[in-house]
Amino acid sequence: MSGEQLQCEYYPFIVVGGGIAGVTCAETLSLLCPEEKILLISASPLIKAVSNLRQYGRTLQQFDVVEKPLSVLQLDCPNIHVLNTAVKEMDHEEHKLLTVDEKWYRYGKLCICTGGKPKVLMEGNKHVLGIRDTESVQEFQERLSSARRVVIVGNGGIATELVYQIKNCEVVWAIKDASITKTFVDAGAAEFFLSSLSSPAEMKDESVSKRMKYTLEKPMISRLTPDLLGGALGPDWTEGREMQGQYGEGRSIHVEYKVEVSRLLSQEEMKSSGKQAKKSPKNDETGLSGEASWPIYVELTNGHIYGCDFVVSATGVIPNVYPLNKNKQFVIASDGGLSVNDHMMTSLQDVYAAGDVCSASWEPAPHWLQMRLWSQARQMGAYAAKCMEAHAKEEEIHMDFCFELFTHVTKFFNYKVILLGRFNAQGLGDDYELLLRVTKGHEYVKTVMKDGRMQGAILIGETDLEETFENLILNQMDLSQYGEDLLSPDIDIEDYFD
Ligand code: FAD
Repeated sequence: MSGEQLQCEYYPFIVVGGGIAGVTCAETLSLLCPEEKILLISASPLIKAVSNLRQYGRTLQQFDVVEKPLSVLQLDCPNIHVLNTAVKEMDHEEHKLLTVDEKWYRYGKLCICTGGKPKVLMEGNKHVLGIRDTESVQEFQERLSSARRVVIVGNGGIATELVYQIKNCEVVWAIKDASITKTFVDAGAAEFFLSSLSSPAEMKDESVSKRMKYTLEKPMISRLTPDLLGGALGPDWTEGREMQGQYGEGRSIHVEYKVEVSRLLSQEEMKSSGKQAKKSPKNDETGLSGEASWPIYVELTNGHIYGCDFVVSATGVIPNVYPLNKNKQFVIASDGGLSVNDHMMTSLQDVYAAGDVCSASWEPAPHWLQMRLWSQARQMGAYAAKCMEAHAKEEEIHMDFCFELFTHVTKFFNYKVILLGRFNAQGLGDDYELLLRVTKGHEYVKTVMKDGRMQGAILIGETDLEETFENLILNQMDLSQYGEDLLSPDIDIEDYFD
């Protein structure tokens, strides 16, 4: 070992990653162990923090995410030392990390919160953009401002938000499923969203919530190295951002169902292929012809070819385990994340992980499932800190209550969306029934029932049912006597069960 390595600074706790998981972990450690030194190493100059926390029920929370300069964390929590650099190597036997500026840091306990990386279609193609951090959204806005047509590939939350926000530009939305927003909602809810999109009132009342944000000048958001990413954007990432193209008025969305991208063709390849691109999917008189005048062409598996200005690839994330797993020392779960047990411990001694980088590998509670979301990154970050502190003191710790029930609050197509428990009957096979209440343009309520007990729910609109349903799922009350009347508008369900 070199002299430089021997002199490396020691911290009882080191956290890697300045996203919501890492920041929450460091803040919680600071609170639990005010006497101990904590080091937070983050490749991004901005950190993510939670503000304006609203508690709806026992586990259902809504909060805003704000970006702050790294230094603010150090001011708020004096025992946290923050470094804006990237880890490039890990020596787990020696309990040490090496940063890109060639400095070693030794840890007592380490929490890895390095997030995820977008799975970008045809990576390296300059006409394809992945959306993840502030920098990539800025690039997207810039390209969109002169665009006439974009092709968006993917069916998760990012694609859904983009499709809704883009104005004055044709959007071809290519999804592999039979209904939109499949990661989050069922076909019925998808239909509910689509029908509201075509109503004349849909462009109104797109209220913009005001949230305090710290912003840095653009150059500060540059990456330490080209492959290092900033923290993933969060619930309000489209807020206040101009997403306007240069063609037509308002929204123009065409969905291509059950397709994947089979290949991308350059202008020259398109010309020599002898194939014909589709004209404007909405209206052939708009002037957007299928002739070879687009920078890039997208051929879909159904044979349709669309020319466009650029492609947005929003096909999910993969856990960002490199470079900490450069030597392949960790047990990796089937989805590529660092496998963690019910104490957020990885397979290596004294190494924990939280957020998008980890895969929950414990036997989950009946109504909880992992999804790579803000709320879970935060809960995991806090729980990992509690485990680190308890283990450092050789104390026992029990699993946090938040892992009893899956809850998620978001907004799609300008509707409040709440997902509870096994909201899409995940893992129930065919052994369940659904109860539905739909008022077009107003609300969509679906409950998943098994043996008369509620297993999950999707609530769209201002239903006010979240707290009641959360309790019904958690306490597994037998509701069979109510049958379909459970969702009848004539029954004041909240009074029954609260
Ligand atoms: P990240 O936020 O990805 O943070 C990772 C951190 O690790 C970063 O600071 C990065 O710089 C740092 N890092 C990486 N490698 C290194 C290294 N080698 N050394 C040092 N630091 C390193 N979730 C929702 O719940 N609701 C939404 O509406 C929503 N919208 C989203 C929109 C977009 C565009 C994206 C990309 C994601 C969205 N998500 C949303 C998902 C949510 O943002 C993530 O689940 C959450 O941010 C994960 O947090 P994290 O702390 O695990 O990781």
